[in-house]
Amino acid sequence: MKRFLCRKEEFLSKSFYNIKADLKEQPKPFLHPGTKQPITPDDLAPLFPMGFIMDGGIPDRYIPIPEEVREKMALYRPTSLIYASGLKKYLDTPADIFYKYEGTNPMGSHKINTALMQAYHAAKEGVRGLCTETGAGQWGSALSYAGQMFGLDIEVFMVRTSFRSKPGRKIVMEMNGARVHESPSNLTDSGKKYYSEDPNHPGSLGIAISEAVETAVKGKGIKYSLGSVLDGVLLHQTVIGQEALLQLNDAGAYPDVVIGAVGGGSNFAGISFPFLKDVLTGGKKTRFIAVEPEACPSMTKGELKYDFGDSIGSTPLIYMHTLGKDFIPAPIHAGGLRYHGMAPLVSHLANLGFINAVAVNETKVFDAAKTFVKTEGLIPAPESSHAIAIVIEEALKAKKENKKINILFNCSGHGMFDMAAFDKHIK
Ligand SMILES: *Cc1c(COP(=O)(O)O)cnc(C)c1O
Repeated sequence: MKRFLCRKEEFLSKSFYNIKADLKEQPKPFLHPGTKQPITPDDLAPLFPMGFIMDGGIPDRYIPIPEEVREKMALYRPTSLIYASGLKKYLDTPADIFYKYEGTNPMGSHKINTALMQAYHAAKEGVRGLCTETGAGQWGSALSYAGQMFGLDIEVFMVRTSFRSKPGRKIVMEMNGARVHESPSNLTDSGKKYYSEDPNHPGSLGIAISEAVETAVKGKGIKYSLGSVLDGVLLHQTVIGQEALLQLNDAGAYPDVVIGAVGGGSNFAGISFPFLKDVLTGGKKTRFIAVEPEACPSMTKGELKYDFGDSIGSTPLIYMHTLGKDFIPAPIHAGGLRYHGMAPLVSHLANLGFINAVAVNETKVFDAAKTFVKTEGLIPAPESSHAIAIVIEEALKAKKENKKINILFNCSGHGMFDMAAFDKHIK
């Protein structure tokens, strides 16, 4: 088997795949926080660019990618599909392991895919700037980069634990022209509530979202941008799975199991949905495993119900797996996975039995990262390492059962800004 599987230009997707076109039963709609009625695109218009709202609402199976965005994606897409021969050999498993590596773009994670689309819509509609939150900094970096590409002002509220443990990410955002604040801050009413109690409050994505939403709504010509959870974001990430499908096909392989880490669910959905299509419409029996941290187990321990997307309760009500909007996760190193909720589409598909969720603890995650560095020579993001922990488990299970299966996972980003975390865990 070749190590790198075809980065052919024709594998760059021309459209996104909309899984809702293939669902018999749709997820429950977002509700207006005041009226408790299903929200309309107009309700969301003060918050998001209309083009982005519509990306989550168009019923078509395939939604074209604008040429301006494809041209920017062509800088780093199609990403490599790598055959993990080093890991396979080390585990001495009959399983073949493949991974999409989303760490090779300028910002180092899959988040750039939706960042480019959201910045494109904003710029096209004459929006001056976008405001957002970031956990570990990957989303803030991606949006800063995309904002710079499309000439937008970007303002970012960064969760305090990450702000302090990953100062490099702040500098990346600033180099891309963004303004970055530590959250909770004293710049917004939502932030002050926590800041006044404790100026060293570790923060959470839920709180940072409240701050960003408030800033966007109060600002002139500013809209809000979200890096995960929403149907439109998941849609944008399907370029990952669509490429993988073509690349695997070229190699004569098809996955028996697809694995991804879940924070809000977007990179997992991105690699999974184009294969889930074959389960929903083509009789395939592929398994899908969503991996989350034990410290923030929204799918394995959370409840499926309507909840707010932020901590203050300013967003629409979302039907999703949630630990409750007030949940403050322990400051684990995978900052991108510290979110109290889960994408409604991922929650829905898990509820229908198409997706299995598992939770792993941080020690196991860093052990997996260590094995991966040793065998594949690539430092994965702590978030991606959650997926790797379960990949190793599945490969060892296949060995025990002497089964030759194909495992596909998403290595959603690199861990080159996570040295403090690795320093603590790897030795
Ligand atoms: C943000 C992030 C995640 C988690 O977010 P999802 O929306 O669940 O994909 C996973 N991996 C990396 C590298 C991230 O930056």
